[in-house]
Amino acid sequence: MGKSSKDKRDLYYRKAKEEGYRARSAFKLLQLNDQFHFLDDPNLKRVVDLCAAPGSWSQVLSRKLFEGQKDVEGRKIVAVDLQKMSPIDHVTTIQADITHPKTLNRILELFGNEKADFVCSDGAPDVTGLHDLDEYIQQQLIMSALQLTCCVLKRNGTFIAKIFRGRDIDMLYSQLGYLFDKIVCAKPRSSRGTSMEAFIVCLSYNPPQDWEPKLDINQSTEQFFEKIPSLNGISELSIDDQSHTKAQLPSWSLEERSIAEFMSCGGLDSFDSDATYHIDADDSRQRESLDPVQSPTNPPYKEALELKRRGKLTRAI
Ligand code: SAM
Repeated sequence: MGKSSKDKRDLYYRKAKEEGYRARSAFKLLQLNDQFHFLDDPNLKRVVDLCAAPGSWSQVLSRKLFEGQKDVEGRKIVAVDLQKMSPIDHVTTIQADITHPKTLNRILELFGNEKADFVCSDGAPDVTGLHDLDEYIQQQLIMSALQLTCCVLKRNGTFIAKIFRGRDIDMLYSQLGYLFDKIVCAKPRSSRGTSMEAFIVCLSYNPPQDWEPKLDINQSTEQFFEKIPSLNGISELSIDDQSHTKAQLPSWSLEERSIAEFMSCGGLDSFDSDATYHIDADDSRQRESLDPVQSPTNPPYKEALELKRRGKLTRAI
């Protein structure tokens, strides 16, 4: 959340502070859950939060799975991020890269080699400002999250992930259809209307019976999915190459693209993403300014600020 006055008036930003969430994105997961109720399942035991820092989704998971719950035996939440995360009750945090196979082993170890019931990923790379490159890296991250999920999720489990609805997103829907019984593209009311961001909700994981997915640092996405003929060429999904016209796409025909059901989540009574926190000008009540719920532990810009303070931040020419 930036420092501009508009951001500071953002209703969800303020509500997040009031309710003790580290980021406004908590409301996206809450609104997705209002629609699909995946976190209300009493049988939910093992949950993975990929790309979890600063941790507002993990806070939602912790509250849903543990607060006021009687039967919490066997419940475990594992949160993974490249960034270090401050502790959250009932959440085991791992500082790791989701694209590395070692991360999968660490998650499985923490689950005693049992599979997870639910995996979510709100992953977003640092943006470069080069639109095509940013979209490409984001799609690579989704593919990494999907591969890890295929190895850790149990049959009938649920996977949700942030996506950007780019040009070739319909092919991703189509391919996910081979792995899950139902795919929905959902847009929570708290996700900005102007953003291409949405979430794929993949229900009932149902891969081919004889497929044993395995992560290997040396194999491509294509090799990972090669045992599933219908998924061959899935890596082409992630290359949004401007030079590919529909007619030129190597192994994809228009029939292979599918349109996922689209759903707006959060109910008509929830606030619009651009709503501002309204304070009447003549309201004389004492207002308290709330500190951030959790300051960033080790943000990437920390080193740059330190260099700038010492006058050593120079731009290469
Ligand atoms: N869901 C989080 C929350 O509610 O607080 C916000 C997630 S933030 C939008 C995206 C996160 O993705 C960043 O913290 C970033 O470090 C993480 N990320 C990006 N690439 C990653 C990778 N390869 N492995 C692990 N985390 C990654």
